[in-house]
Amino acid sequence: MTLLGMTVQELTDWVTAQGQPKYRGQQLHEWLYHKGVVSFAEISVFPKAWRELVGDEIIGRSQIVQRSPAPDGTVKYLLQLQDRLTIETVGIPTSDRLTVCVSTQVGCPMACDFCATGKGGWRRNLAVHEIIDQVLTVQNDFQRRVTHLVFMGMGEPLLNLANVLSVIRILNQDVGIGQRHMTVSTVGVPQQISAFAQAHLQVTLAVSLHAPNQELRQQLIPSAKRYPLTQLMADCQDYVKITGRRLSFEYTLLAGVNDAPAHAMELAQLLRGFQCHVNLIPYNPIAGVDYRRPSAQSVQNFARILEKLHIATSIRQTRGLSASAACGQLRSQQERHDPQKN
Ligand code: SAH
Repeated sequence: MTLLGMTVQELTDWVTAQGQPKYRGQQLHEWLYHKGVVSFAEISVFPKAWRELVGDEIIGRSQIVQRSPAPDGTVKYLLQLQDRLTIETVGIPTSDRLTVCVSTQVGCPMACDFCATGKGGWRRNLAVHEIIDQVLTVQNDFQRRVTHLVFMGMGEPLLNLANVLSVIRILNQDVGIGQRHMTVSTVGVPQQISAFAQAHLQVTLAVSLHAPNQELRQQLIPSAKRYPLTQLMADCQDYVKITGRRLSFEYTLLAGVNDAPAHAMELAQLLRGFQCHVNLIPYNPIAGVDYRRPSAQSVQNFARILEKLHIATSIRQTRGLSASAACGQLRSQQERHDPQKN
């Protein structure tokens, strides 16, 4: 059992079952979600004898095993979970925001060809408290409120949908992050986009497209063979109809693979009339993979073609490259140094 992830009512039930007065439920809630305590012993308003009896494991916090700051202020953390597996999380500050990029799984089964996490295989889904912990860890370390959240760390969020939905609710209601400041990124899992739509949230859904046609897409994304582009696009249309919300498409640009003007034109054709926004991500090089990052010029050209064809487009600024903070690299480096770790 873990306290992190419980609502104020559940915490109140727990403290009373422990023979403590009811109001300690509210106190526990405050210390867990606002003060961000990592151990039960720290909750100084609780009787010492009770704190010793309960022990620290029950909170459900991880340990920072590596902290890698980049010159741009981005900090990447390697966190160790209670079963000793490790995950990454990233804090990305700007003057008026602190964004956290959270992981939803240990590893990922989708195996996208250009993704460091995909190369490392899949271990398990993260529990609700293990995702919330990442946000609180960044918040504590930066000594600043987390304002924005992207589910773009390790793993495929829609393969862990029930937990992701609970996390969104808790971070919204208990930690105080606006749903409109959250983005869930998916490569697409059959049936799950419509399940996500049915939750009627205010969060943004970002779909990783990476190619304007089925043939190229399935070369880059093996799971696309079981979820053809026509079906994915139909599910995205339904998502917009059901939620009334605009959708984002992510497109990682790989030099000489999917970044030609013809690809941009084909992409504009595919998205014509769609209530959407395209986010171009210049490829972040990862070890052991042959793809190349396109020049700034060719990224600009690609964007310009889309815009001329009336597709709202932005280019994602790369943050934290020097800290290996871009995409799954900290964990794979650690594993190379210490293959016994996991
Ligand atoms: N499983 C989710 C979240 C993945 S990470 C998804 O697929 O959407 C968020 C985005 O970064 C995805 O679009 C992913 O394809 C992209 N990405 C992964 N590795 C990358 C790399 N090395 N360079 C650029 N983008 C990458």
